[in-house]
This record gives sequence, structure tokens and C-alpha cells, in this order.
Amino acid sequence: MKYYSTNRKSPAVDFKEATIKGQAPDKGLYFPERIPAVDEDLIKRIGNLSNEEIAFHVIRPYTGNEIPEEKLFRIVSETVNFPMPLVQVNDSIWSLELFHGPTLAFKDVGARFMSRCLGYFLKDNEKKVTVLVATSGDTGGAVANGFYLTEGVDVVILYPSGKVSPVQEKQLTTLGGNIHALEVKGTFDDCQQMVKKAFANEEIQKKRFLTSANSINVARWLPQQFYYFFAYRQWPYKKDPPVISVPSGNFGNICAGILAQRSGLPVKHFIAACNVNDVVSGYLKTEVLKPKTAVSTWSNAMDVGNPSNFVRILEIFHHRFPDLKDHLSSCSISDEETLATINSVFREFKYLTDPHGAVGYEALNRFLKNEAAGKGIFLETAHPVKFPEAVEKATGRPVEILSSLAGLMKKDKQSVLMENDFNHFKEYLLY
Ligand SMILES: *Cc1c(COP(=O)(O)O)cnc(C)c1O
Repeated sequence: MKYYSTNRKSPAVDFKEATIKGQAPDKGLYFPERIPAVDEDLIKRIGNLSNEEIAFHVIRPYTGNEIPEEKLFRIVSETVNFPMPLVQVNDSIWSLELFHGPTLAFKDVGARFMSRCLGYFLKDNEKKVTVLVATSGDTGGAVANGFYLTEGVDVVILYPSGKVSPVQEKQLTTLGGNIHALEVKGTFDDCQQMVKKAFANEEIQKKRFLTSANSINVARWLPQQFYYFFAYRQWPYKKDPPVISVPSGNFGNICAGILAQRSGLPVKHFIAACNVNDVVSGYLKTEVLKPKTAVSTWSNAMDVGNPSNFVRILEIFHHRFPDLKDHLSSCSISDEETLATINSVFREFKYLTDPHGAVGYEALNRFLKNEAAGKGIFLETAHPVKFPEAVEKATGRPVEILSSLAGLMKKDKQSVLMENDFNHFKEYLLY
């Protein structure tokens, strides 16, 4: 499989190069030159297949012969080796729980797949690769965990001091080894700026081979298709496909879902569930995407004012607006509505959501009100325990700490405190 740049000014590359580079040199995102069709038989037999088998069949056309089948099977097995159950919440709404991985958010799948592919591709490389990543919270932990002890890879994570939750901070600062955490006295946008500047800096480029591990990387983006197949595998009404609501920030996850649908997975409709950082609803009304400065919300992993993966959604629909509008709706849920949803879903249905899942639930709930007998799924993208402050504020009860987290919380934080100044970061990377 070849991948072209959405800006169309760089040459097409294979999966290996797209994974190692991250972004195309012309600053476009890599996109597969064709969308492979899944075997009809796979859809028919999906209820009898294991998650490993499904994942292997879905991803194989994208990696082509660049990873031997046996190796690829091992990679996907390690990627999806935790449960992703579909849990019924009420008569019309199900939750696909994607938070049972090592860092309790869905990003584990993409991070694990990417780290293993990168490790495989770099096995004969002389030069070490440095993965740079800025995080508002969840990405850092998933990447740290996914890349921990991967040979030939150093990971440098920048996170905004005091702006990530205690669990998130421990997840990205306590591993040590090849994982290095920088605590920046600034915001997430400042961290991202520093990463961008590092990529553009020749001196650093000479000294280090840099790549990025956010969802623009195809090896992190493509495996997110798995969730949607796993959801359908567990869906009780195979003849009546679900509406799927995806809590969205950078739009990588929902874009992977639409890709899965395009390749033959039955899905009735997609809803991009956003917090108040919602530029896509505007796009769906006016056909113009107007980036905004992100504001902070309870669902902090979705505080994105210029979703980088949206261009890939346009690409899937060949930039045909009517086609896109048929398949995708969008809905914006405020912070007050998010907390009210956490509370009402907990009281009425005894189901506890995190703030991101609550946005997904409420967007779906509103959509289904206009659909007679409609049924759907929202993706529960993080465990409530990662956001105890919001959940406690919503329900008036403290969140029970998971026993698996007790050990983590006792570990010592290892991070380098850094001024919000690119020169300090540069010095750090050069020495
Ligand atoms: C990253 C994240 C999202 C947003 O996913 P995108 O692919 O960026 O749209 C939603 N929920 C949680 C918990 C996340 O960590």
C-alpha cells in the first residue's frame, strides 16, 4: 500500500516510511491511495472471530508485505489483548468501553500498534529515533506505556505543568528507562509549539532523528478502525446497524471509524460528539472550517480548536460535501450539560461515564430522539477514575480508586521542569 500526502506536494511513500516520518515533508497527512474492501465473509462470520483475527484482517492490506504475516499477527495480538466490551446502558444506547487498556483510555491501541511497528522497522537501524510528543493528558501516558523499553527509540513527552490530572501525570512520569517527561511551565499549546519548532530546527534534526506519535501518524490512526469492528461483532441487531457517536477532538478516532465503514463495515451514521470546541458543526452548516483557539473544558482531551485529522475525512469523501453530510452529523455539548449527563446516566441507569463518554452519550441521545426506534453506541474513551474531579462534582460522590492504580500512585514522579522557552528545550535535545 502506498500513502500520498493530502497536500499532494510530496511523493507517495510505503507504510514503513509513513510510520517513520509521521507527517509528510509538505506538512500534509499521509492517506492510503485506496480504501481496501473487507471480505464480506468477515462481516458475516464476525461473531465467531476473535479480536486478534479481526484486527489482523482489517490492518493487513494497509501494511501490505512490509511486515511478515506472523510478525503482524503478533503485533496485533499485543495491541488488542485487553477486553473492549459493549455494555447496554438503556433501551436504545450501548457503551463501547475502550478504557480497559494499561493507561485506561482508548489511545492505548494506537500507541501499542505504532510502537511495535516502529520497533520492527528500526530493528536494523544504527541511529536511535526520538519520538517527540506534546500531550494534554491521555496521549502522554499511552505513548509512554506503548513505547516503554522499545529498542532504538527514545521518547520525550512534553506536558503542561499543573494541567493534567494526577493519574495522567503519574502515568507519563514514572516509567523511566527510555521515557523522558518534560514538565513545561505553560499550556498544552505551548508544548505543541515547542515540538513543532523542534521539527523545523536543523541543528536538532542533525543531532537526532525525530518522529511524532500523535494521531497524524498512520500507524496510530489506522488501528483505531478495530474498535468499530469489535463494536459490530458484539452488536445484537446485525441487520439493523448502529448509529455511532464518537467523542472527538483531533478527529482521528472518528475518521478511522468512517474509513472502516467505507471499507464495508455496517454503520448507520456517525456523530462527532464535541465539547464547546466545536468547529466541525460550523463546517457542516457552512462548508467552511474555521479554526478557533481551544478553550479548557472537563473533557480536556477534546480541547482542540483545529482538528488535524479532519482533512482525512474530506479525503475519504473526495471533498464531496453532500456525501459527507449524509454520513456525519455533529453535536456540541457544554460543560454543564456534560456534568448533568454524568449525573443523570448514573442515577437513572447506574452507569458511570467519564466526561468524554458523557459528551458522546448526550450527543447520541439527542440524535436518537429524532429517529423512531433508533439504536446506537457511544464510545466510552476513558475510565472515569482518570477524571475524578469532574465525576465527583457531577454525582456528589468520590470516585472509587481502582486497585490497579494504587501502585502507580505510590511511584515517584521523574520529570524535568522546564521554562516555556524553546531554547531550553533545544538545549535539552542537543545534550
Ligand atoms: C484523545 C481523546 C479523545 C479524542 O480523540 P480524537 O481522535 O483526538 O478525536 C476523546 N476522548 C479521550 C478520553 C481521549 O483521550
